[in-house]
Amino acid sequence: MGSEHSALPAEEITVHGFTVNYRKDHRRGPTPLLDRGYFLSGLPRLIALCQLLGHKPTIDGYDSKYGKSARWVSCARCGIRPNPQGRLDATQWAIGQRYTGPFLTEVPQPPEKARQLEDAKPVPLPPTEPGPWPTNPTSSIGAQLIIGPSFGGAGIELKVGSPASEQCLAAHVRIHPLGALYVHTENHGQFIQKYLNNSTDWESRVIGLSVDQGTLRWKVWARRDSSSIHDPWWMNGSINIDPRHYLLGPNRGHCTPLTEKTPGTVYLPDGTRHDITLTLERWTHGRTRGRKTTRWMADWTSRAGIPVRFDRSVHGASIEIGEEAAKSGQWAQQACAAIAAQCVQDRVRYGYEASAAA
Ligand SMILES: [Zn+2]
Repeated sequence: MGSEHSALPAEEITVHGFTVNYRKDHRRGPTPLLDRGYFLSGLPRLIALCQLLGHKPTIDGYDSKYGKSARWVSCARCGIRPNPQGRLDATQWAIGQRYTGPFLTEVPQPPEKARQLEDAKPVPLPPTEPGPWPTNPTSSIGAQLIIGPSFGGAGIELKVGSPASEQCLAAHVRIHPLGALYVHTENHGQFIQKYLNNSTDWESRVIGLSVDQGTLRWKVWARRDSSSIHDPWWMNGSINIDPRHYLLGPNRGHCTPLTEKTPGTVYLPDGTRHDITLTLERWTHGRTRGRKTTRWMADWTSRAGIPVRFDRSVHGASIEIGEEAAKSGQWAQQACAAIAAQCVQDRVRYGYEASAAA
């Protein structure tokens, strides 16, 4: 039992709460009615079992492939570390082993203070032995509530962090366009993380389900930031749930180039001319056995580029032209006029005045 180790005198607990308005961050798309973050810090950690039985001091640490190793002490049950956490010899202590060595009885003075008192002396390394357990460990929780549209689709997800995570637990539910709720727990629930995901790959695990654009995706205890071909099929997958996909076939676009590369000239209202190369393309979109839509696009490139911003020129893009123009001999002229209009529109958006370029 760890209870025989001395503890610090009880510290006073102050819970601190604040909110942050994220609504002004929505620059594109519709602004939701509400987008606000809520934070509570200084909340006591719920560690009833450890308060009753004492902490379980256990060796924690890492062995990097470059030969660097570190060992410190943490509680195998709640994850709390003594203060200081200790700086133990990696050749003497194995990760996961019960720590049976001595504890310091009081927290040593921080090096900053020591430097002021004993001027010009080198900063001492922290002691090798772990210090006392914190008596009133606290942590924070946070949430973000969005009412109104944010991202498309709908989904629900629970994350269990890894030993390296800033947030032990996090979860969200979002239903477009109603809103979304995100919550995270910092160090609260660390015993859950230690119990479920104490692996040394240091990857968070997620369980979730989402629907977006006719596709259902699931994650079942999947690594959040990576996947492997060795993962079982059920861990991470998706399925198309749009019935039209099965009745009419997949929705695809198909491009047919109709011309060779054709020279063209874009005249801008500032009096400059820009030589470009164009190709006329016919695009059909639709399901294999469904109705198709046809669009006519001119794909263009400019070697020199057309300046639309102080720091950027556009060197090519695709621009839509009408069917009538596409079927006439004047498609390239119509495309050049549309490119000129687009360039002027971009210059207005970026506040770029053509006279400044001359
Ligand atoms: Zn504990």
